[in-house]
Amino acid sequence: LAKQLGRSRTETYSTNMDFGMNDRLTISNKLRRAVESMDSFSLHYQPQVDLNAGMLVGMEALLRWDNPTTGGITPDVFIPLAETIGLIVPIGYWVLREACSQLKAWEDKVGDGLVMSVNLSAKQLQQPDFVEMVGQIIEESGVDPTHLCFEITETTALGDMGHVLSILNQLLNRGIHIALDDFGTGYSSLSVLNQLPLRTIKIDRSFIRDMHAGSDHIAIVTAIVAMAKSLKLHVIAEGVETEEQKQILKDMNCDAYQGFLLSRPIPAEQFEDKFLSH
Ligand code: C2E
Ligand code: MG
Ligand code: MG
Ligand code: MG
Repeated sequence: LAKQLGRSRTETYSTNMDFGMNDRLTISNKLRRAVESMDSFSLHYQPQVDLNAGMLVGMEALLRWDNPTTGGITPDVFIPLAETIGLIVPIGYWVLREACSQLKAWEDKVGDGLVMSVNLSAKQLQQPDFVEMVGQIIEESGVDPTHLCFEITETTALGDMGHVLSILNQLLNRGIHIALDDFGTGYSSLSVLNQLPLRTIKIDRSFIRDMHAGSDHIAIVTAIVAMAKSLKLHVIAEGVETEEQKQILKDMNCDAYQGFLLSRPIPAEQFEDKFLSH
């Protein structure tokens, strides 16, 4: 990417803080143009599997931007940028529409019992007509809202707690589940937990990554799972990469997992071949 933007150094961008003003501007302009048609965007899907039953319980939709001139820019870079330059709202509606129509297609094929998770940004929740638009998209796609899960982060929740709470409750009233993503990375995890109408928490990848025999992270994750259970929340572990991690999570009674061990996020057709055809 750096090369293509005319720099001599080669570097990869891991966060939106890593690039300078010029690159930022270039990427912003490309992003603006890309959003006009949304042609260069697609969704990849990552499976979530129940640890006890070993069954597929759902999938997370993850946005990809395949820009011919910049190469693949990861969501960690373009999502924060889209938030900053005011594009996350149209992008977010596109994501939701696409994820709902994909879910509908899969349900028609294999029946229900799957939950589609979609990530939300704080800016989306701030739209005055957000709940109405969500309702409209659900209606158009014909999906059952109880088969949808919106993932929010603590930062989103803490933005304007009163307003966020009211929106989340309206979504909940329509049947949509709410999951707290990246759990454990924020500052006030515990107080947020019993204030929000959550169904699920997703334990952040950083805790899982360092979880192996003898590591302190086992104690932390054990405590998170126990706490979630006592609050009657469903727990999903993110970023499971090894059999050992999976086994440890299973022994803890964690409900479900997601991670490269099972599959990377993959395009819909591949997902269907691998996980939905038997
Ligand atoms: P997230 O919602 O926490 O998504 C999980 C991220 O962890 C994904 O990165 C996924 O590819 C990665 N991951 C899953 N399993 C493993 C593993 O075993 N090992 C490792 N190393 N990574 C794993 P991805 O797709 O790059 O997305 C990054 C973030 O971008 C997401 O984090 C989410 O915050 C945001 N994002 C992606 N798509 C959307 C979207 O449609 N809307 C919004 N608002 N944000 C999105
Ligand atoms: Mg997520
Ligand atoms: Mg996450
Ligand atoms: Mg994240």
